[in-house]
Amino acid sequence: MDRELWHCSDCGDEREFVQPPCTDGHTEDGGHCPEWACVDCGTALVTGVVVLQPAVVAATVRARIAA
Ligand SMILES: [Zn+2]
Ligand SMILES: [Zn+2]
Repeated sequence: MDRELWHCSDCGDEREFVQPPCTDGHTEDGGHCPEWACVDCGTALVTGVVVLQPAVVAATVRARIAA
């Protein structure tokens, strides 16, 4: 399994990230899955970018509707 060191925003420090088994079909055609997970807290990253929390997304959508 591949391992990479990235900064984890939840841990507040460099952490080892591993690729969990892909359930979205990214690897079905031989490609690489962009999803990684912190081995300490499980925070998910997609190619090094922290996945937005659903609450943040919802707030952004509401702000766009209100504009
Ligand atoms: Zn995947
Ligand atoms: Zn972490």
